[in-house]
Amino acid sequence: MLTFDSVAIRFGGIVALDGISFDIAPGEILGLIGPNGAGKTTLFNCVSRLYTPDEGDIRFQGESLLALSAHRIARLGITRTFQNLALFRTMSVRDNVLVGTHPRTGGNFLSDAIGLNRTPAHGDAEIDDLLHDMGLTDVADRVVSDLPTGTQKRVELARALAGRPRLLLLDEPAGGLTHSEVDELGELIRRIRDQRGVTVLLVEHHMGLVMAISDTVVALDFGRKIAEGSPAEVQNDPEVIRAYLGSS
Ligand code: ATP
Repeated sequence: MLTFDSVAIRFGGIVALDGISFDIAPGEILGLIGPNGAGKTTLFNCVSRLYTPDEGDIRFQGESLLALSAHRIARLGITRTFQNLALFRTMSVRDNVLVGTHPRTGGNFLSDAIGLNRTPAHGDAEIDDLLHDMGLTDVADRVVSDLPTGTQKRVELARALAGRPRLLLLDEPAGGLTHSEVDELGELIRRIRDQRGVTVLLVEHHMGLVMAISDTVVALDFGRKIAEGSPAEVQNDPEVIRAYLGSS
């Protein structure tokens, strides 16, 4: 579904990505790990076209993304979340989710919110179902800033899903969550894949979460891919162990 083909990018003297190649199959959950500065967020930023690689290609269902704008990429069905929550904190949970229904922006702009430009394809019943599936029905009319971090993360996921993505890029969704919230998040991501058929690329430092829910794990270090395989294979890979011990 998504193919990274020898992707390389430099910032001044820093080689942030150095010939990265791997594929994500449809319906797969792929966990991308690596110590701080390994290049994970940079790779995300290349997919969502905030950055343009210096070399290589990124293809979605065979089509190169490099000639496309960020806005066109959202229309293809690729949606991302951010390391720091990017919700409209003074708006209700429901209105935040409605922001995500706009097909043109993938929910990026406030002007598309609250039904102003809503497509008729997104009925209230669909939003209600989504809120229900994300465990948000009881807080649908609450202001986001009043809610615990774990709930806000679910709002962010619901907003991303409201755009009906085919590929979801999750940037450190477990950050700031308690142990039990991380377990719930893992179950939720799995359910999103199983029930909605959404393919997931997950960048995450929380190894327990990555190893529990990923079908495949790719490890980066200093911009290079150092391992790829099942969670057990990557966890026991000597180069991965060395990369993490060396960075601690
Ligand atoms: P973390 O886990 O800490 O978020 P990461 O694996 O996501 O790290 P990146 O943020 O992708 O790592 O950074 C990879 C390298 O590229 C780092 O050395 C970083 O400083 C550098 N880098 C990323 N974006 C830029 C930029 N816009 N300008 C200069 N250097 C950058």
